[in-house]
Amino acid sequence: MYDVIVVGARCAGSPVAMLLARRGYRVLVVDRGAFPSDTVSTHFIHQTGLARLDAWGLLDRLRATGVPAVRHMRFSNADVYAEGFADPIEGLAEVYCPRRTVLDKILVDAAREAGAEVVERYTAMDVLFSEGRAVGIRGRLDDGTEREFHGRVVVGADGPNSTVAAKVDAGFYQVVPAAGFVYYSYYSGLDWGYHHRTRDEQQFATCPTNDGLLMLAVMRKRDRYREFRADVEASFQSVFDQVVPELGADLRAHGRREEPFRAIRYADNFYRRSHGPGWALVGDAGYHKDPLTGWGITDAFTYGELLADQLHLGLSGELPIDDAVAEYAKRRDEASAGVFQLTVTMAALTLPPFFYSVLKAVSQSPGYLKKFFAMVGGGYTGEEFFAPHNLAELYEEVGTPPASRILTASGVAH
Ligand SMILES: Cc1cc2nc3c(=O)[nH]c(=O)nc-3n(C[C@H](O)[C@H](O)[C@H](O)COP(=O)(O)OP(=O)(O)OC[C@H]3O[C@@H](n4cnc5c(N)ncnc54)[C@H](O)[C@@H]3O)c2cc1C
Repeated sequence: MYDVIVVGARCAGSPVAMLLARRGYRVLVVDRGAFPSDTVSTHFIHQTGLARLDAWGLLDRLRATGVPAVRHMRFSNADVYAEGFADPIEGLAEVYCPRRTVLDKILVDAAREAGAEVVERYTAMDVLFSEGRAVGIRGRLDDGTEREFHGRVVVGADGPNSTVAAKVDAGFYQVVPAAGFVYYSYYSGLDWGYHHRTRDEQQFATCPTNDGLLMLAVMRKRDRYREFRADVEASFQSVFDQVVPELGADLRAHGRREEPFRAIRYADNFYRRSHGPGWALVGDAGYHKDPLTGWGITDAFTYGELLADQLHLGLSGELPIDDAVAEYAKRRDEASAGVFQLTVTMAALTLPPFFYSVLKAVSQSPGYLKKFFAMVGGGYTGEEFFAPHNLAELYEEVGTPPASRILTASGVAH
Protein backbone atom coordinates (compact mmCIF):
# COMPACT_ATOMS: atom_id res chain seq x y z
CA MET A 1 0.00 0.00 0.00
CA TYR A 2 1.52 3.31 -1.14
CA ASP A 3 0.78 6.70 0.36
CA VAL A 4 0.72 8.22 -3.11
CA ILE A 5 0.66 6.77 -6.63
CA VAL A 6 1.69 9.18 -9.37
CA VAL A 7 0.86 8.40 -13.01
CA GLY A 8 3.30 10.19 -15.33
CA ALA A 9 6.96 10.84 -14.52
CA ARG A 10 7.94 13.99 -16.36
CA CYS A 11 7.83 17.69 -15.30
CA ALA A 12 4.86 17.40 -12.97
CA GLY A 13 4.91 13.79 -11.78
CA SER A 14 8.55 13.27 -10.85
CA PRO A 15 8.82 16.42 -8.70
CA VAL A 16 5.64 15.48 -6.79
CA ALA A 17 7.02 11.98 -6.23
CA MET A 18 10.46 13.30 -5.25
CA LEU A 19 9.18 15.91 -2.80
CA LEU A 20 6.88 13.44 -1.05
CA ALA A 21 9.50 10.69 -0.95
CA ARG A 22 11.95 13.17 0.58
CA ARG A 23 9.40 13.68 3.36
CA GLY A 24 9.41 9.98 4.00
CA TYR A 25 6.19 8.93 2.25
CA ARG A 26 5.92 5.70 0.33
CA VAL A 27 5.52 6.82 -3.25
CA LEU A 28 5.13 5.00 -6.56
CA VAL A 29 5.55 6.81 -9.87
CA VAL A 30 4.72 5.00 -13.10
CA ASP A 31 5.17 5.99 -16.73
CA ARG A 32 4.36 4.25 -19.97
CA GLY A 33 7.70 5.51 -21.30
CA ALA A 34 11.25 4.83 -20.15
CA PHE A 35 13.91 7.43 -19.45
CA PRO A 36 15.79 9.10 -21.00
CA SER A 37 13.26 9.64 -23.75
CA ASP A 38 11.98 12.55 -25.78
CA THR A 39 8.50 14.01 -25.84
CA VAL A 40 6.95 16.60 -28.15
CA SER A 41 7.88 19.76 -26.28
CA THR A 42 10.37 22.55 -26.59
CA HIS A 43 12.49 23.67 -23.77
CA PHE A 44 12.11 27.11 -22.27
CA ILE A 45 12.15 27.25 -18.46
CA HIS A 46 11.44 30.61 -16.80
CA GLN A 47 13.54 31.89 -13.91
CA THR A 48 10.78 31.01 -11.46
CA GLY A 49 10.82 27.42 -12.76
CA LEU A 50 14.61 27.23 -12.53
CA ALA A 51 14.33 28.55 -8.98
CA ARG A 52 12.28 25.47 -8.11
CA LEU A 53 15.01 23.23 -9.58
CA ASP A 54 17.56 25.19 -7.58
CA ALA A 55 15.59 24.78 -4.35
CA TRP A 56 15.37 21.03 -5.00
CA GLY A 57 19.15 20.83 -5.54
CA LEU A 58 18.82 19.95 -9.23
CA LEU A 59 19.86 23.12 -11.07
CA ASP A 60 23.57 22.33 -10.99
CA ARG A 61 22.81 18.93 -12.51
CA LEU A 62 21.05 20.70 -15.33
CA ARG A 63 23.95 23.12 -15.84
CA ALA A 64 26.37 20.16 -15.84
CA THR A 65 24.67 18.82 -18.99
CA GLY A 66 26.26 21.71 -20.90
CA VAL A 67 22.99 23.40 -21.76
CA PRO A 68 23.94 27.00 -22.57
CA ALA A 69 22.68 29.88 -20.45
CA VAL A 70 20.46 32.46 -22.15
CA ARG A 71 21.02 36.03 -20.93
CA HIS A 72 19.54 38.05 -23.74
CA MET A 73 16.15 37.84 -25.45
CA ARG A 74 14.78 39.35 -28.62
CA PHE A 75 11.02 39.75 -29.03
CA SER A 76 9.08 41.31 -31.83
CA ASN A 77 5.49 41.47 -32.89
CA ALA A 78 4.74 43.38 -36.08
CA ASP A 79 6.70 46.67 -35.71
CA VAL A 80 7.17 46.34 -31.94
CA TYR A 81 10.71 45.23 -31.06
CA ALA A 82 12.16 44.62 -27.61
CA GLU A 83 15.44 43.10 -26.54
CA GLY A 84 17.10 42.69 -23.17
CA PHE A 85 16.82 40.57 -20.06
CA ALA A 86 15.38 40.76 -16.58
CA ASP A 87 17.36 41.67 -13.50
CA PRO A 88 17.96 38.53 -11.41
CA ILE A 89 14.75 36.82 -10.30
CA GLU A 90 15.11 34.63 -7.20
CA GLY A 91 18.87 34.96 -7.72
CA LEU A 92 18.73 33.70 -11.33
CA ALA A 93 20.34 35.90 -13.94
CA GLU A 94 19.87 33.43 -16.80
CA VAL A 95 17.43 30.93 -18.26
CA TYR A 96 17.92 27.53 -19.89
CA CYS A 97 16.29 25.55 -22.66
CA PRO A 98 17.29 21.93 -21.98
CA ARG A 99 16.29 19.00 -24.15
CA ARG A 100 13.52 16.98 -22.55
CA THR A 101 15.69 13.88 -22.88
CA VAL A 102 18.02 15.61 -20.42
CA LEU A 103 15.59 17.44 -18.11
CA ASP A 104 13.11 14.63 -17.58
CA LYS A 105 15.85 12.11 -16.83
CA ILE A 106 17.21 14.42 -14.10
CA LEU A 107 13.72 14.61 -12.59
CA VAL A 108 13.05 10.87 -12.70
CA ASP A 109 16.47 10.07 -11.26
CA ALA A 110 15.87 12.57 -8.43
CA ALA A 111 12.54 10.94 -7.61
CA ARG A 112 14.21 7.53 -7.50
CA GLU A 113 17.11 8.79 -5.39
CA ALA A 114 14.64 10.30 -2.92
CA GLY A 115 13.19 6.83 -2.40
CA ALA A 116 10.21 6.81 -4.76
CA GLU A 117 9.65 3.54 -6.58
CA VAL A 118 9.75 4.18 -10.32
CA VAL A 119 8.06 1.74 -12.69
CA GLU A 120 8.72 2.46 -16.36
CA ARG A 121 6.96 0.97 -19.41
CA TYR A 122 3.75 0.64 -17.42
CA THR A 123 0.53 2.08 -18.86
CA ALA A 124 -2.16 2.93 -16.34
CA MET A 125 -5.48 1.92 -17.86
CA ASP A 126 -7.89 2.36 -15.00
CA VAL A 127 -8.33 3.98 -11.60
CA LEU A 128 -9.58 1.66 -8.86
CA PHE A 129 -12.35 2.91 -6.55
CA SER A 130 -13.68 1.79 -3.21
CA GLU A 131 -16.72 3.49 -1.68
CA GLY A 132 -16.37 6.40 -4.07
CA ARG A 133 -12.69 7.02 -3.36
CA ALA A 134 -9.76 6.42 -5.70
CA VAL A 135 -7.66 3.70 -4.09
CA GLY A 136 -5.24 2.64 -6.82
CA ILE A 137 -4.58 1.95 -10.47
CA ARG A 138 -4.73 -0.98 -12.84
CA GLY A 139 -2.43 -1.16 -15.83
CA ARG A 140 -0.13 -3.18 -18.00
CA LEU A 141 3.62 -3.45 -18.42
CA ASP A 142 5.03 -3.49 -21.93
CA ASP A 143 5.53 -7.26 -21.71
CA GLY A 144 1.77 -7.66 -21.28
CA THR A 145 1.77 -8.34 -17.53
CA GLU A 146 -1.21 -6.71 -15.81
CA ARG A 147 -0.55 -5.14 -12.43
CA GLU A 148 -2.59 -3.30 -9.84
CA PHE A 149 -1.15 -0.87 -7.31
CA HIS A 150 -2.98 0.42 -4.25
CA GLY A 151 -2.50 3.77 -2.51
CA ARG A 152 -4.18 6.42 -0.41
CA VAL A 153 -4.06 9.01 -3.19
CA VAL A 154 -3.78 8.71 -6.98
CA VAL A 155 -2.18 11.68 -8.75
CA GLY A 156 -2.70 12.09 -12.49
CA ALA A 157 0.42 13.73 -13.92
CA ASP A 158 -0.18 12.07 -17.26
CA GLY A 159 -0.40 15.04 -19.60
CA PRO A 160 -3.28 16.75 -21.43
CA ASN A 161 -4.87 13.49 -22.57
CA SER A 162 -4.80 12.18 -19.01
CA THR A 163 -6.19 8.69 -18.46
CA VAL A 164 -6.56 9.41 -14.74
CA ALA A 165 -8.66 12.52 -15.51
CA ALA A 166 -10.90 10.48 -17.81
CA LYS A 167 -11.34 7.68 -15.29
CA VAL A 168 -12.24 10.01 -12.41
CA ASP A 169 -14.46 11.96 -14.81
CA ALA A 170 -12.80 15.30 -14.10
CA GLY A 171 -14.82 18.03 -15.80
CA PHE A 172 -13.31 20.77 -17.97
CA TYR A 173 -13.74 24.49 -17.38
CA GLN A 174 -12.43 27.65 -19.05
CA VAL A 175 -11.90 25.79 -22.31
CA VAL A 176 -10.44 27.95 -25.07
CA PRO A 177 -10.03 26.20 -28.42
CA ALA A 178 -6.45 25.78 -29.60
CA ALA A 179 -5.27 28.45 -32.01
CA GLY A 180 -2.29 26.90 -33.71
CA PHE A 181 0.21 24.23 -34.59
CA VAL A 182 3.99 23.98 -34.43
CA TYR A 183 6.87 22.46 -36.38
CA TYR A 184 10.30 22.41 -34.81
CA SER A 185 13.76 20.88 -35.15
CA TYR A 186 17.42 21.32 -34.21
CA TYR A 187 20.05 23.12 -36.27
CA SER A 188 23.81 23.55 -36.38
CA GLY A 189 25.58 26.48 -38.04
CA LEU A 190 23.39 29.21 -36.48
CA ASP A 191 24.42 31.42 -33.59
CA TRP A 192 21.22 33.37 -32.98
CA GLY A 193 20.48 32.95 -29.30
CA TYR A 194 16.93 33.39 -28.07
CA HIS A 195 14.27 34.90 -30.36
CA HIS A 196 10.47 35.12 -30.15
CA ARG A 197 9.32 36.85 -33.34
CA THR A 198 5.82 37.30 -34.72
CA ARG A 199 4.34 38.96 -37.79
CA ASP A 200 1.19 38.44 -39.86
CA GLU A 201 -0.14 35.54 -37.77
CA GLN A 202 3.08 33.58 -38.02
CA GLN A 203 5.77 33.17 -35.46
CA PHE A 204 9.15 31.63 -34.93
CA ALA A 205 11.05 31.01 -31.72
CA THR A 206 14.65 29.92 -31.29
CA CYS A 207 16.66 28.84 -28.29
CA PRO A 208 20.10 27.33 -27.82
CA THR A 209 19.88 23.87 -26.30
CA ASN A 210 22.10 20.87 -25.51
CA ASP A 211 24.75 19.49 -27.89
CA GLY A 212 25.57 22.90 -29.40
CA LEU A 213 22.31 22.96 -31.37
CA LEU A 214 19.76 25.71 -31.86
CA MET A 215 16.09 24.75 -31.59
CA LEU A 216 14.01 26.45 -34.27
CA ALA A 217 10.21 26.36 -33.99
CA VAL A 218 7.55 27.78 -36.27
CA MET A 219 3.98 28.41 -35.14
CA ARG A 220 1.04 29.17 -37.39
CA LYS A 221 -2.71 29.22 -37.04
CA ARG A 222 -4.64 26.01 -37.49
CA ASP A 223 -6.25 27.00 -40.74
CA ARG A 224 -2.78 27.00 -42.37
CA TYR A 225 -1.96 23.43 -41.35
CA ARG A 226 -2.86 21.68 -44.60
CA GLU A 227 -1.04 24.24 -46.74
CA PHE A 228 2.03 24.13 -44.45
CA ARG A 229 2.26 20.34 -44.56
CA ALA A 230 2.24 20.23 -48.35
CA ASP A 231 5.92 21.27 -48.32
CA VAL A 232 7.21 21.46 -44.76
CA GLU A 233 10.79 22.45 -45.59
CA ALA A 234 9.71 25.37 -47.79
CA SER A 235 6.91 26.46 -45.42
CA PHE A 236 9.29 26.42 -42.46
CA GLN A 237 11.89 28.50 -44.29
CA SER A 238 9.29 30.97 -45.55
CA VAL A 239 8.21 31.92 -42.01
CA PHE A 240 11.76 33.06 -41.22
CA ASP A 241 11.97 34.85 -44.57
CA GLN A 242 8.77 36.74 -43.90
CA VAL A 243 9.12 37.50 -40.21
CA VAL A 244 12.83 38.49 -40.07
CA PRO A 245 14.32 38.35 -43.59
CA GLU A 246 17.99 38.62 -42.41
CA LEU A 247 17.57 35.52 -40.27
CA GLY A 248 15.76 33.78 -43.12
CA ALA A 249 18.80 34.42 -45.33
CA ASP A 250 21.18 33.15 -42.63
CA LEU A 251 19.10 30.01 -42.17
CA ARG A 252 19.19 29.33 -45.91
CA ALA A 253 22.96 29.98 -46.12
CA HIS A 254 24.30 28.41 -42.93
CA GLY A 255 21.62 26.40 -41.13
CA ARG A 256 21.84 22.63 -41.19
CA ARG A 257 18.90 20.65 -39.81
CA GLU A 258 20.31 17.84 -37.66
CA GLU A 259 17.11 16.01 -36.72
CA PRO A 260 13.68 15.31 -38.23
CA PHE A 261 10.92 17.86 -37.79
CA ARG A 262 8.55 17.36 -34.89
CA ALA A 263 5.01 18.63 -35.36
CA ILE A 264 1.85 18.88 -33.34
CA ARG A 265 -1.52 20.54 -33.55
CA TYR A 266 -1.99 21.95 -30.08
CA ALA A 267 -4.56 20.60 -27.66
CA ASP A 268 -7.17 23.08 -26.43
CA ASN A 269 -6.45 25.39 -23.51
CA PHE A 270 -8.31 24.24 -20.43
CA TYR A 271 -8.58 23.72 -16.73
CA ARG A 272 -9.90 20.44 -15.36
CA ARG A 273 -11.34 19.79 -11.95
CA SER A 274 -8.14 18.70 -10.23
CA HIS A 275 -9.27 17.32 -6.90
CA GLY A 276 -11.69 14.68 -5.73
CA PRO A 277 -11.97 11.86 -3.21
CA GLY A 278 -8.57 10.21 -3.17
CA TRP A 279 -7.29 11.83 -6.37
CA ALA A 280 -5.61 14.92 -7.77
CA LEU A 281 -4.44 16.16 -11.17
CA VAL A 282 -1.24 18.13 -11.73
CA GLY A 283 0.70 19.55 -14.69
CA ASP A 284 -0.97 19.50 -18.09
CA ALA A 285 -3.46 16.89 -16.89
CA GLY A 286 -5.22 19.54 -14.82
CA TYR A 287 -4.33 22.81 -16.51
CA HIS A 288 -3.13 23.09 -20.08
CA LYS A 289 -2.37 26.07 -22.27
CA ASP A 290 -0.77 26.94 -25.56
CA PRO A 291 3.04 26.56 -25.36
CA LEU A 292 3.59 30.03 -26.85
CA THR A 293 4.50 31.70 -23.56
CA GLY A 294 6.58 28.71 -22.40
CA TRP A 295 4.93 28.30 -19.00
CA GLY A 296 4.01 24.58 -19.01
CA ILE A 297 7.20 23.27 -17.42
CA THR A 298 7.53 26.13 -14.93
CA ASP A 299 3.89 25.72 -13.90
CA ALA A 300 4.29 21.95 -13.60
CA PHE A 301 7.15 22.57 -11.14
CA THR A 302 5.42 25.36 -9.21
CA TYR A 303 2.06 23.66 -8.79
CA GLY A 304 3.66 20.22 -8.43
CA GLU A 305 5.43 21.57 -5.37
CA LEU A 306 2.19 23.12 -4.12
CA LEU A 307 0.41 19.79 -4.51
CA ALA A 308 3.20 17.95 -2.68
CA ASP A 309 2.97 20.47 0.18
CA GLN A 310 -0.80 20.08 0.41
CA LEU A 311 -0.60 16.28 0.21
CA HIS A 312 1.88 16.38 3.06
CA LEU A 313 -0.64 18.33 5.16
CA GLY A 314 -3.27 15.71 4.37
CA LEU A 315 -1.10 12.61 4.75
CA SER A 316 0.36 13.83 8.03
CA GLY A 317 -3.14 14.37 9.42
CA GLU A 318 -2.87 18.14 9.77
CA LEU A 319 -5.83 18.58 7.43
CA PRO A 320 -8.45 16.22 6.00
CA ILE A 321 -6.71 15.04 2.85
CA ASP A 322 -9.47 15.92 0.40
CA ASP A 323 -9.63 19.46 1.84
CA ALA A 324 -5.88 19.83 1.51
CA VAL A 325 -6.00 18.80 -2.15
CA ALA A 326 -9.02 21.02 -2.84
CA GLU A 327 -7.01 23.93 -1.46
CA TYR A 328 -4.17 23.08 -3.86
CA ALA A 329 -6.55 23.29 -6.84
CA LYS A 330 -8.06 26.56 -5.62
CA ARG A 331 -4.67 28.20 -5.15
CA ARG A 332 -3.40 26.91 -8.49
CA ASP A 333 -6.41 28.37 -10.29
CA GLU A 334 -6.02 31.76 -8.62
CA ALA A 335 -2.27 31.97 -9.14
CA SER A 336 -2.31 30.78 -12.76
CA ALA A 337 -5.21 32.90 -14.05
CA GLY A 338 -3.01 35.77 -15.32
CA VAL A 339 -0.62 33.51 -17.24
CA PHE A 340 -3.55 31.55 -18.68
CA GLN A 341 -5.28 34.70 -19.96
CA LEU A 342 -2.12 36.22 -21.37
CA THR A 343 -1.23 32.94 -23.07
CA VAL A 344 -4.56 32.40 -24.80
CA THR A 345 -4.51 36.04 -25.94
CA MET A 346 -0.99 35.85 -27.35
CA ALA A 347 -1.65 32.43 -28.90
CA ALA A 348 -3.94 34.05 -31.46
CA LEU A 349 -0.71 35.41 -33.02
CA THR A 350 -2.28 38.86 -33.51
CA LEU A 351 -1.80 41.53 -30.85
CA PRO A 352 -5.10 43.05 -29.74
CA PRO A 353 -4.96 46.91 -29.74
CA PHE A 354 -4.43 47.07 -25.96
CA PHE A 355 -1.37 44.83 -26.02
CA TYR A 356 -0.06 46.54 -29.13
CA SER A 357 -0.19 49.99 -27.57
CA VAL A 358 1.33 48.78 -24.28
CA LEU A 359 4.17 46.87 -25.93
CA LYS A 360 4.88 49.67 -28.38
CA ALA A 361 5.32 52.05 -25.43
CA VAL A 362 7.32 49.48 -23.44
CA SER A 363 9.79 49.09 -26.29
CA GLN A 364 10.63 52.79 -25.95
CA SER A 365 11.19 52.82 -22.18
CA PRO A 366 14.37 51.24 -20.76
CA GLY A 367 12.82 51.09 -17.27
CA TYR A 368 9.65 49.40 -18.46
CA LEU A 369 11.62 47.01 -20.66
CA LYS A 370 13.26 45.67 -17.51
CA LYS A 371 9.81 45.21 -15.96
CA PHE A 372 8.62 43.49 -19.16
CA PHE A 373 11.44 40.95 -19.03
CA ALA A 374 10.85 40.52 -15.29
CA MET A 375 7.19 39.78 -16.02
CA VAL A 376 8.18 37.30 -18.73
CA GLY A 377 10.36 35.51 -16.17
CA GLY A 378 7.73 35.49 -13.45
CA GLY A 379 9.40 38.07 -11.20
CA TYR A 380 6.79 40.77 -11.73
CA THR A 381 3.10 40.07 -11.92
CA GLY A 382 1.00 40.77 -14.98
CA GLU A 383 -1.54 42.48 -12.73
CA GLU A 384 1.09 45.02 -11.68
CA PHE A 385 2.63 45.33 -15.11
CA PHE A 386 -0.71 46.08 -16.79
CA ALA A 387 -2.14 48.17 -13.91
CA PRO A 388 -3.75 51.28 -15.48
CA HIS A 389 -1.86 53.75 -13.24
CA ASN A 390 1.47 52.18 -14.27
CA LEU A 391 0.49 52.25 -17.94
CA ALA A 392 -0.57 55.89 -17.64
CA GLU A 393 2.92 56.71 -16.36
CA LEU A 394 4.52 54.70 -19.13
CA TYR A 395 2.51 56.44 -21.88
CA GLU A 396 3.42 59.80 -20.37
CA GLU A 397 7.12 58.89 -20.21
CA VAL A 398 7.39 57.84 -23.86
CA GLY A 399 4.96 60.46 -25.21
CA THR A 400 2.32 58.09 -26.61
CA PRO A 401 -0.32 60.21 -28.40
CA PRO A 402 -3.40 60.48 -26.15
CA ALA A 403 -5.65 58.66 -28.66
CA SER A 404 -3.38 55.59 -28.49
CA ARG A 405 -3.19 55.39 -24.69
CA ILE A 406 -5.22 52.24 -24.08
CA LEU A 407 -5.28 51.52 -20.37
CA THR A 408 -7.37 48.36 -20.08
CA ALA A 409 -7.84 45.23 -22.17
CA SER A 410 -11.52 46.06 -22.53
CA GLY A 411 -11.03 49.43 -24.17
CA VAL A 412 -9.74 52.99 -24.15
CA ALA A 413 -9.79 54.66 -20.76
CA HIS A 414 -7.43 57.61 -20.98
C1 LIG B 1 5.28 21.69 -29.04
C2 LIG B 1 5.32 22.03 -27.59
C3 LIG B 1 6.26 22.92 -27.12
C4 LIG B 1 6.31 23.25 -25.77
N1 LIG B 1 7.26 24.13 -25.34
C5 LIG B 1 7.34 24.46 -24.03
C6 LIG B 1 8.35 25.35 -23.55
O1 LIG B 1 9.19 25.86 -24.29
N2 LIG B 1 8.36 25.62 -22.22
C7 LIG B 1 7.43 25.10 -21.37
O2 LIG B 1 7.47 25.40 -20.17
N3 LIG B 1 6.49 24.25 -21.79
C8 LIG B 1 6.42 23.91 -23.09
N4 LIG B 1 5.46 23.04 -23.52
C9 LIG B 1 4.52 22.50 -22.54
C10 LIG B 1 5.17 21.38 -21.75
O3 LIG B 1 5.64 20.39 -22.62
C11 LIG B 1 4.15 20.78 -20.79
O4 LIG B 1 3.47 21.80 -20.08
C12 LIG B 1 4.83 19.85 -19.79
O5 LIG B 1 5.48 18.80 -20.45
C13 LIG B 1 3.79 19.30 -18.82
O6 LIG B 1 4.39 18.31 -18.04
P1 LIG B 1 3.55 17.10 -17.48
O7 LIG B 1 4.48 16.32 -16.62
O8 LIG B 1 2.27 17.60 -16.91
O9 LIG B 1 3.10 16.25 -18.75
P2 LIG B 1 3.95 15.49 -19.85
O10 LIG B 1 5.27 16.12 -20.05
O11 LIG B 1 3.03 15.34 -21.01
O12 LIG B 1 4.23 14.05 -19.21
C14 LIG B 1 3.19 13.14 -19.03
C15 LIG B 1 3.80 11.77 -18.83
O13 LIG B 1 2.73 10.87 -18.53
C16 LIG B 1 2.95 9.63 -19.17
N5 LIG B 1 1.66 8.98 -19.35
C17 LIG B 1 0.60 9.46 -20.05
N6 LIG B 1 -0.43 8.58 -19.95
C18 LIG B 1 0.01 7.56 -19.18
C19 LIG B 1 -0.60 6.37 -18.71
N7 LIG B 1 -1.88 6.06 -19.02
N8 LIG B 1 0.13 5.54 -17.95
C20 LIG B 1 1.42 5.83 -17.64
N9 LIG B 1 2.03 6.96 -18.04
C21 LIG B 1 1.33 7.80 -18.79
C22 LIG B 1 3.61 10.02 -20.50
O14 LIG B 1 4.36 8.93 -21.00
C23 LIG B 1 4.49 11.19 -20.06
O15 LIG B 1 5.79 10.76 -19.73
C24 LIG B 1 5.38 22.68 -24.87
C25 LIG B 1 4.44 21.77 -25.33
C26 LIG B 1 4.41 21.44 -26.67
C27 LIG B 1 3.38 20.45 -27.15
